[in-house]
Amino acid sequence: MDKHLCIHGHFYQPPREDPWLGTILPEGSAAPSLNWNERITRESYAPLARARRLDGSGRIVEVMNCYEWISFNAGPTLLRWMDTGAPDTLKLMLQADRDSLRRLGHGNALAQVYHHQILPLATPLDKELEIAWAVDDFQARFQRPPEGLWLAETAVDTATLEVLAAQGVAFTILAPGQARATAPLDDNRWTPVEQGGLDIRQPHLVRLPSGRSVTVFFYDGPLSQAVAFERLLADGETFWRRLSGATGPGLLSLATDGETYGHHFTFGEMALAFVLDQARRGRDGVNLTNYAAFLAANPPTRQALLHEPSAWSCAHGVERWKSDCGCTTGGHPGWSQSWRAPLRRALQQAKDTVDLHYFQRGAGCFLNPRAALVAYGKVLAGLTGQEDFAAAQMRKGLDQAEQAAAWKLLAMQQWGLASLASCAWFFDEVSRIEPVNAMTYCLRALELAQATGAPDATPQVLRTLADAKSNLPEYGDAAAIWKTLVEPRRETTESLAAQALAVLDLEERMPAPGGRAVVAWPGVGVEVAPDSAGTGTALIRWTLESGAQTLRYAWDAAPGDPLAASVSVSGGPAFSPAGLPVNKRQALADAWARRASDVLWEQACARMARGAHLVTEIQEAQTTMTLAPLWAGLWAPLAWNYLWGLDLSPKRRELLLTFLHQNAGSASERAALMQRVSGRALAELSAPGAKPDWESLRRMVARVRELALPEDWWAVQNLLWDTGLRLRAGKPLAELLGFA
Ligand SMILES: [Zn+2]
Repeated sequence: MDKHLCIHGHFYQPPREDPWLGTILPEGSAAPSLNWNERITRESYAPLARARRLDGSGRIVEVMNCYEWISFNAGPTLLRWMDTGAPDTLKLMLQADRDSLRRLGHGNALAQVYHHQILPLATPLDKELEIAWAVDDFQARFQRPPEGLWLAETAVDTATLEVLAAQGVAFTILAPGQARATAPLDDNRWTPVEQGGLDIRQPHLVRLPSGRSVTVFFYDGPLSQAVAFERLLADGETFWRRLSGATGPGLLSLATDGETYGHHFTFGEMALAFVLDQARRGRDGVNLTNYAAFLAANPPTRQALLHEPSAWSCAHGVERWKSDCGCTTGGHPGWSQSWRAPLRRALQQAKDTVDLHYFQRGAGCFLNPRAALVAYGKVLAGLTGQEDFAAAQMRKGLDQAEQAAAWKLLAMQQWGLASLASCAWFFDEVSRIEPVNAMTYCLRALELAQATGAPDATPQVLRTLADAKSNLPEYGDAAAIWKTLVEPRRETTESLAAQALAVLDLEERMPAPGGRAVVAWPGVGVEVAPDSAGTGTALIRWTLESGAQTLRYAWDAAPGDPLAASVSVSGGPAFSPAGLPVNKRQALADAWARRASDVLWEQACARMARGAHLVTEIQEAQTTMTLAPLWAGLWAPLAWNYLWGLDLSPKRRELLLTFLHQNAGSASERAALMQRVSGRALAELSAPGAKPDWESLRRMVARVRELALPEDWWAVQNLLWDTGLRLRAGKPLAELLGFA
């Protein structure tokens, strides 16, 4: 049999969105990025879609979409964010799947457990939902059913595989240590793995009690480990030799977190691109493939028994996600993980309550509550519209209030499932952002339960959470964390109206009386219709729900501190944006900063188009400009005018350049200027029907170098590559920017 190679990346971020607004709020630890999704996209997901392959002299010969040549899965919770947060990278992932499908007859993409739950720990209902919704999400994005599915933490047991098989998933990928014994397909003489029973280069069939089966691929453990944790990505050639040396008849596959490339290991994507290029050229007789294509040509000839339950990141079954098993990540040796068990109990207790309520209350709304819940995945995926769903799943003749309740019950289940994402238990402390988010989703689910008539289950949940002790005395226990970190996140009509009005105020788009404006987050929208300077009507509409809430507001804008404004809703007590939790205040501050920075920059550049003519000569015995510190403050907009070819006499040009050199600007000013420069170049190159001024662009690049700005042409290079402009009119510019 030939030698085959497949490199798999598991791309995943936990659910991070605020369960009311549906948007990811600023996460301080990711700063200056807005949040971790954005930061890891910049470090890993985007570079992998646009990896530079260089020639011997360091010039770019190819911008490679690595997703086209690796096997990959990306979770729905990450992809949903990418829709708006990283559309370019998402587009390239989808393109990569289409291209690999064309080349190999099978696409590179795999589905993934919807909320990354540890399925052996999930109830039968949740197992079914997590897989069914994942399959729907995959179908909607990749326009084909998934052949394989990545299990969160590769956590597996028979019941989990039964659900995969029932949903039409053909295969999954496991760690070699999860195999217990193997045998030929046609007899049951099992050889234990410890006695050399496992050949990871061939797929194995796992037969299930139902008579169904799932194929399992076992990745190469030591090599995957070396990629993830040793310095194998430091050098492409070394990486290739290790891989090539390990191949043999059959399929050698590696599986790691996708973030290994670029986030855990800077420039890891370049080593990967080098290796993928060697493999696709067939160096050393290696064939580059993906799991589904290999499986189609090489159906299993052996069967396997698994350790159950088991996972790739815990040596104790799946204890890591429910007890203090000793596995931990976070870097605090000696910290206790005794909080894991009560956190699991509390969140499961809440989910059980939610389930009970769903089926009791849902019986009046849905023709078949369970079928409706399974089908809701198609609504989340955009495969079914809300009206079609209601027509097919809801009882006939429901009034508006009952329809609204039905939608709330479904949203309640969505957040209940999100609260059980594996990440809450992965790290070593209950006050970390992951458990806090899990508790926030739990709170949201319980709130929706109450809103549809359930009794308040919070007291019981809090009693259990009180047993989850933090390692940090200042936090106490998870019940205290619920009060201090979780509860303040809750949105009310007042807080939503306050944020909508504050955004309109800070972005200077408050409508005049009689007008209207909408502030929309992914999860909720607020339409503001003032009837005077300080009063009006607000309409709150929740996404994927029905009905709307109309309320009267009074807005008292503060002349000084904008957060000191206050709003009262329908005559209730006043609420001020200053009372919002820090991340929500940060989001308002960011909205203001973006607008303020753009407005001031435009003004400054226009003004400095005149000022650049006024930089005067240095006279005899003069060492610096008069008012030098004042002029230095004008450095960036002066430099901008210089870069974009302000028309100056040679003498003036020289004077301006001397000034720009002498004052130089701070590192952050220079980086910000570079960003604006590449932004304008991008706009010029991509404007529809634009005829770029190549001469001005080339002069700009030369002047960026004259001023020794921190060059960053990443996005411009991508555009030159995508459009093919580098081969035509843009060739001189492309060469200037590093293309071979
Ligand atoms: Zn463990």
